[in-house]
Amino acid sequence: MADDRHKKLSVLYASGKELQISGEFSSYLGKLLNTDLSKQIWDGMVLVPEFEVDDELKVLLETVVQRERVSFDSQVRLQHSIGKSSPEIARAMVYQLPTPVDAVVFPKDKELRRLITVLKKENIKITVYGGGSSVTGGIRSKKYERVVCIDTSNLNELEIGKGFCTAGAGLTGSEAEKLLNAKGLTMGFFPESLEHSTIGGWISTKASGQESNAYGDIEDIVISVDLYRSDSTVIEDNYTRISSGVSGKDIATGGEGRNGIVVRAKMKTFPKPERRYFQSFLLPSFKSGIDFMKTLERFPDVMRLMDETETDLALNEAGDSFSKRVLQRMMKSRGISQGSMVIIMSREKISVPKISGSIKMGKSPAVRWNETRYQRPYLGNILWKRSVVVDTLETSASWNDLPSLYQNVKNEFTQVTKEIGINGLIMSHISHEYQSGACIYFTFMFKSSNPVEDLDTIRDHMVQTFLSSGGSITHHHGIGNEFRKYLSDGLKSIQDKASDPIFLQI
Ligand SMILES: Cc1cc2nc3c(=O)[nH]c(=O)nc-3n(C[C@H](O)[C@H](O)[C@H](O)COP(=O)(O)OP(=O)(O)OC[C@H]3O[C@@H](n4cnc5c(N)ncnc54)[C@H](O)[C@@H]3O)c2cc1C
Repeated sequence: MADDRHKKLSVLYASGKELQISGEFSSYLGKLLNTDLSKQIWDGMVLVPEFEVDDELKVLLETVVQRERVSFDSQVRLQHSIGKSSPEIARAMVYQLPTPVDAVVFPKDKELRRLITVLKKENIKITVYGGGSSVTGGIRSKKYERVVCIDTSNLNELEIGKGFCTAGAGLTGSEAEKLLNAKGLTMGFFPESLEHSTIGGWISTKASGQESNAYGDIEDIVISVDLYRSDSTVIEDNYTRISSGVSGKDIATGGEGRNGIVVRAKMKTFPKPERRYFQSFLLPSFKSGIDFMKTLERFPDVMRLMDETETDLALNEAGDSFSKRVLQRMMKSRGISQGSMVIIMSREKISVPKISGSIKMGKSPAVRWNETRYQRPYLGNILWKRSVVVDTLETSASWNDLPSLYQNVKNEFTQVTKEIGINGLIMSHISHEYQSGACIYFTFMFKSSNPVEDLDTIRDHMVQTFLSSGGSITHHHGIGNEFRKYLSDGLKSIQDKASDPIFLQI
């Protein structure tokens, strides 16, 4: 048996990758949080305990899946039992580790159906793992007699057709884009986790990419899926559209590993844009930005409106520059003490209607956002390593409800952190727009001696405020383990009917 005792596992996002921040930005952020950010006190790693190996299970699995695609390694098992949600990271920081799965298998498509049949016969539960970027506790295992995790990384083929591709569920976004880009195509789906999340994961969490205004959310991009369940197999890869009741696509979308395994999916493809056009403006306030956005009849491919705090942070992160000093002078002359930045990216040159009281900021902020869009989460790693808890929660609401929802959530955050007795920082941006409303995304951070309990309390207050202010539980992160308790009884009952009991019900 391998000696796992000294192995370590990084529980942060994309271990090893770092975003550099300047000393000035670190002390600016430290001041806002009233803490010293100069010292790293955690490396983001946990020591992996040695987990027992179930020899009987080993024999069973190796009769179905080739031996090299079966793992009982403690580090691999722990990695497949923990996602990237902040509660999971906070628990890991204080060494509260999840129950590990008993084994991880990396089957090929041809091994999968027999594997599911054998596991069902032995009453062994299954969890499904794509890229492991879940931020809702979606891949967390639970105590159960025996649990095997199916990692989809060997389901990775891609075939290109006219206007679509058939992609293996385990392909990451970057892998799929690379293959498509080589043929002048794109899938048009760009979550911030593109480098690590998979097609199966996107479908299963009902995800949304940053260019959803142009290409749609995942349910608009998936044409059909092949779904393996323990009681049936749904093969839809020949369909362009099916006009019949509930389809595999319907059951798979948002299924979060409870409804079977997405093996492959037929996805739309689009010509890769030849150019991108960028614009940025500073608006007098976040509220004026929301009022402006709701008058638009069409939205640019990307339109991100940051509130005053997030704008301030973005401007400070960019460092001192001539253009920043010019901007500050213009703000002063217009009586804007803290503006709200909107960045726009589009495939065509578009002219945005004049925004009253706004200052044109040129293209640089939008270009910078585009260039660093997949690296921005690494900023979170820097904070976690200084034991600052950082988290994001997102919701969607109608244009009319958005301003009050925003204010209510901020007030609630201020109130609850005051009651707990900690210093916190909250900021927000609007990221995906629809005719009826938009997604509003909150980032918050704090330092506390009780990170796990305080985070749970703050999150609960925020989600309850979403719901009482007209918002949804989440807009694109899924529900996972952590949000299921907020689901209405009606939806819970429908979703339970679609589930397959051999898959661990989170
Ligand atoms: C830094 C960061 C940025 C993010 N940005 C975005 C964003 O912009 N937009 C967005 O929507 N989300 C975002 N997310 C959340 C996350 O990336 C998505 O939820 C993503 O869809 C998960 O994909 P995954 O392959 O990592 O799935 P996993 O994390 O491996 O799994 C997620 C859930 O899907 C299930 N699952 C995975 N594959 C399959 C399959 N083949 N069949 C059945 N069930 C399966 C799992 O069991 C689990 O319940 C972000 C996360 C991080 C950490």
